[in-house]
Amino acid sequence: MQLNLNQQLKIYNSLSGDKEVFTPILDGNVGMYVCGPTVYSNVHLGNCRTFISFDLVYRYLKHLGYKVRYVRNITDVGHIEDDADEGEDKIAKKARLEKLEPMEIVQQYSVDFHQILELFNNMPPSIEPTATGHIIEQIETIKEIIANGFAYESNGSVYFDVVKFNENHNYGQLSGRNLDDMLANSRELAGQDEKRNSADFALWKRAEPEHIMRWPSPWGDGFPGWHLECTAMSTKYLGNHFDIHGGGMDLKFPHHECEIAQNEAATGHSPVNYWMHANMLTLNGKKMSKSTGNNILPREIFTGNNPFLSKAFSPSVARFFMLQAHYRSVLDFSDEAITASEKGYNKLMEAFATLEEITPAATSTLDIAAWKQLCYDAMNDDFNSPILIAHLFEAVKFANLLKENKETLTQADLDCMKKTLYSFTFDVLGLKDEKGQDGSNDKLEGVVNMLIEMRREARANKNFALSDEIRNRLTELGIELKDTKEGTTFSVK
Ligand code: AMP
Ligand code: ZN
Repeated sequence: MQLNLNQQLKIYNSLSGDKEVFTPILDGNVGMYVCGPTVYSNVHLGNCRTFISFDLVYRYLKHLGYKVRYVRNITDVGHIEDDADEGEDKIAKKARLEKLEPMEIVQQYSVDFHQILELFNNMPPSIEPTATGHIIEQIETIKEIIANGFAYESNGSVYFDVVKFNENHNYGQLSGRNLDDMLANSRELAGQDEKRNSADFALWKRAEPEHIMRWPSPWGDGFPGWHLECTAMSTKYLGNHFDIHGGGMDLKFPHHECEIAQNEAATGHSPVNYWMHANMLTLNGKKMSKSTGNNILPREIFTGNNPFLSKAFSPSVARFFMLQAHYRSVLDFSDEAITASEKGYNKLMEAFATLEEITPAATSTLDIAAWKQLCYDAMNDDFNSPILIAHLFEAVKFANLLKENKETLTQADLDCMKKTLYSFTFDVLGLKDEKGQDGSNDKLEGVVNMLIEMRREARANKNFALSDEIRNRLTELGIELKDTKEGTTFSVK
């Protein structure tokens, strides 16, 4: 297989706790599964960080020349509140509160998810299966696990027998937890009486008569457990043994630990070679989360319509802000931090125009090959995007020195620098030049600023009918005005 450049990609494997050289099962091909969203509310910026992290992984693998099959699911059933086995399904609960069909909730928030990820310039996965579309596969997996002696039926539900499994497998291999500690520390919870042990988890849950999301099964009407869907869907599309499985850090336990247990119980071997976990985006030092309300929605960033924000930021700036941290580091969101990212992003975009003005020379005074290698080294070191970005900023400096004739490049080196800068910025990091190539954005900005000025004059003259009309008509066109101490800014939805 023809791979790009001296690459020896290393990936931090959560299972071993080490950076390991990446060797795919099938030369030149990569199978990657990433846990998708539970579609019961708008995707928040924290969720987006995880999906952007894996979009970076996907893009870089493709850039290296791998043929990647990227499977990312939609969780539309089985995810119970608090990630527990007892309680209400998150989607069913939202449907009850909104007086809608569960599938209306699923549709509404799947559409939102897709729109937001597209705005962030995420590439769509190769396959996007849904849990409700794979009930038959999930039932088949349960049958295999029961047949192998690792699950039992209890009162119309089926539970995974963790204690039995742990006799000759290791429940806790991913999360580093110890089963004895888990058993000693767990309280008796409602519904636990159906389980042999408190650590057992549901593969199938009996549906109470009022439960809408239900399917027939050999154990009666019910619905699948949350962990099971990812086992069924990953192996259906990637095989029983595949390369990469990803998700947010908070999914390590119990979700991914249970996935490994289910796979080993069904097939006898571990499913995944490299487990990757993306770290959390925090707000005020606390994890962004749908359930606690401590979050910012992407649209609030794009419109500036949130008390945390002084102004609107474009999707590429928000994406750049996230990629300036390594995917395994916690990242705290703040107005100051994203404002700094915007400055950096603008500088990077300006470098492209600067490079167009450079005339090649007979000799090169800069070592472009070495610089290019550093860019690859950064990404080969467990997708280290902040280091890569530091090297891209080096290129911004080079561009300015070249413009001032303080350094020179031959035509070949100049072409190489442009091509490398372009492909890392746009193809690998997935940024977009939001200014646009045709200057239409500058014209729009000029027109809207003219209207903002007219509105300011109308207000000064107490002509509030006119000032309101200007704001409302702009809103209808998808242009939001935001009044701040420093003046009025606008954002385009
Ligand atoms: P959910 O829709 O809650 O199932 O979450 C979808 C994905 O977002 C999962 O991979 C989570 O681990 C991830 N996630 C949730 N909260 C955050 C956060 N604050 N920062 C980064 N990723 C998150
Ligand atoms: Zn999953």
